[in-house]
Amino acid sequence: MKKCPGCAEEIQNNAVKCKHCGEFLEGAHRSRLLEAKRPWYFRKSFIVVAVCSIGPLALPLIWWRPHTTRAWKIGLTIGILALSWFIFQATMESIHTLKESYKLIEGL
Ligand SMILES: [Zn+2]
Repeated sequence: MKKCPGCAEEIQNNAVKCKHCGEFLEGAHRSRLLEAKRPWYFRKSFIVVAVCSIGPLALPLIWWRPHTTRAWKIGLTIGILALSWFIFQATMESIHTLKESYKLIEGL
């Protein structure tokens, strides 16, 4: 048992929240603070948006992010590169098709 810093009532050692006053205890507080301290450019939502808008240029963000494991970094890098290569190929293909159809129109 330990004492709650909020109301000084006795609470369980592994309690996250005091049952007497509803105060969040130190451990829980600390992880919440860490979450809040995380810079905005390392937030998952920002990285997803960045990858969607600038593609492989957002890769350094993933590599700098301290919360991502190495396996994830490698996997994401391969995935993003493969996806951008696919999009690049598709774009080139459509440009080629467009040129071909222009040639056909000019030929008429
Ligand atoms: Zn309390």
